[in-house]
Amino acid sequence: MPELPEVETTRRGLAPHCEGRSLTALQLRDTRLRWPVQSDLAEQLCGHTLQTIDRRGKYLLFRFEHGTLLVHLGMSGSMRVMPSHSAPGKHDHVDLCFGEQCLRYNDPRRFGCMLWTQDDPAKHALIAHLGPEPLHDTFNAEYLFQKSRGRSQALKTFLMDSRIVVGVGNIYANEALHRAGLHPLKAAGKLSRPKSEVLVNEIKQVLDHAIQRGGTTLRDFVGGDGKPGYFAQELFVYGRGGEPCKQCGKPLTEKAVAQRTTVYCTACQR
Ligand SMILES: [Zn+2]
Repeated sequence: MPELPEVETTRRGLAPHCEGRSLTALQLRDTRLRWPVQSDLAEQLCGHTLQTIDRRGKYLLFRFEHGTLLVHLGMSGSMRVMPSHSAPGKHDHVDLCFGEQCLRYNDPRRFGCMLWTQDDPAKHALIAHLGPEPLHDTFNAEYLFQKSRGRSQALKTFLMDSRIVVGVGNIYANEALHRAGLHPLKAAGKLSRPKSEVLVNEIKQVLDHAIQRGGTTLRDFVGGDGKPGYFAQELFVYGRGGEPCKQCGKPLTEKAVAQRTTVYCTACQR
């Protein structure tokens, strides 16, 4: 599943190819995404200039002067730069064409979305409730400490709640908790102030590191038929249940927490 670093890498990969350019055509081959894509999207957008591509959480915001196209990649979506005349594949549902090049949206499972709004996207129902960006200064130790007060839910579940902070998906929650030496099932309300600082720093580091690594795969967003840059991560716990902890050598424990695979070291994480 594309997580925040993949979405940010997608944004950085696409932006130089289309920002400041006029949308010349829009091919809508299948409207059946998570919510139907409005059938007159081409009429709304063709002839208008794409100003910027921004990101909020895992939403890409394609900002035009008269509105914003909100795009979410869902479980299996991707966007890449292709020649506009190239033949579409089976799951290539939408092309946004900017002259010779197009941004092609591919989504085999169709859990993504593409929604046009002429209102302030920050007030959109999908975005208004979102917590701070994890790499922004507003996500800090004091914020996380205060938000966690009185909460009995598992620390990992708390971190993955997008109302608390956006973009800390399952992989990064597992990794950050291991690096911070915090048990994923610890009650969020038991987080100490010093540990809140450690955890916030580790979350920022794992996400920033993943984005930096993604930056080396930007060329994968242009041309070719392969999957775009979902980069190999250097992971300490995720996907390593039963294997030795890289810090102490003890076999890692794997358990479902809120239906999500959770891997941790009972010796290093308390
Ligand atoms: Zn360990």
